[in-house]
Amino acid sequence: MTGPEIPESHPRYESLLTRHRIEEGVDLGITSRQGLIAQGRGEAFDYLLGEETIPSADAAERVAAAHLLRADHAVLSINGNVAALAPGEMVELAEATGAALEVNLFNRTEERMENIAEYLREHGAEEVLGLTADGRIPGLDHERAKVDADGIGSADVVLVPLEDGDRAEALAEMGKTELVVDLNPMSRSAKSATVPIIDNLIRAVPNITAHARDLSDASEGELDAIIEDFDSGAALEAAEQRIRSLDE
Ligand code: ATP
Repeated sequence: MTGPEIPESHPRYESLLTRHRIEEGVDLGITSRQGLIAQGRGEAFDYLLGEETIPSADAAERVAAAHLLRADHAVLSINGNVAALAPGEMVELAEATGAALEVNLFNRTEERMENIAEYLREHGAEEVLGLTADGRIPGLDHERAKVDADGIGSADVVLVPLEDGDRAEALAEMGKTELVVDLNPMSRSAKSATVPIIDNLIRAVPNITAHARDLSDASEGELDAIIEDFDSGAALEAAEQRIRSLDE
């Protein structure tokens, strides 16, 4: 990916680089214009969180890794912002955990589906699901409900970064273990998650991969213990506390 002319010493380097990637995503036909708005919302929360992975998010990222390793059929959901921000990182996470990759768009067009699938392949993905669209999420209107029957449709564990609240709730109602990456601890997506990860996607995904590699030799019992120990309400509360106490 080409970088913008931003010196690494710039105090807002990471934030500017992120913005640049989203802009580029729009230019490449990967990210929707609504994705720019989602990015702005995310940036505001990231600023309030101190633009770092807080300890409770790191813990949630370890739990997410344990779920992905323990799953029978895990799927990583990719939308236009995720593809623009972390394409290679999502492919690496899929490789480290054995999860499948599925393109899953809120504003679905065949062209954007194809563009994203191709972009992921350019970043090393071997198989990209989402184009068959022969499954449905119950309770959503036709276009929003489309998934692959052998992908998200039959997955037991789904990682949904930056998901829209309606779909996050509908997936949770299907009984799936939902791992949500969202910078807003008050969003419906974060609240409906089995594991809410309140962190920036660009920090969260490589850290989940690092935890998955670290846990690759862990027994099923050890993974289950990590999963059992997690308290989603406490994770949301810790992030909210961090936001409220930034200046203290
Ligand atoms: P709700 O879940 O409350 O219904 P929504 O579906 O309307 O919210 P959107 O604006 O569609 O929310 O989604 C954007 C969400 O993604 C916001 O909560 C924002 O904080 C989050 N977000 C944006 N960029 C990132 C990022 N880089 N990393 C993590 N989260 C992000």
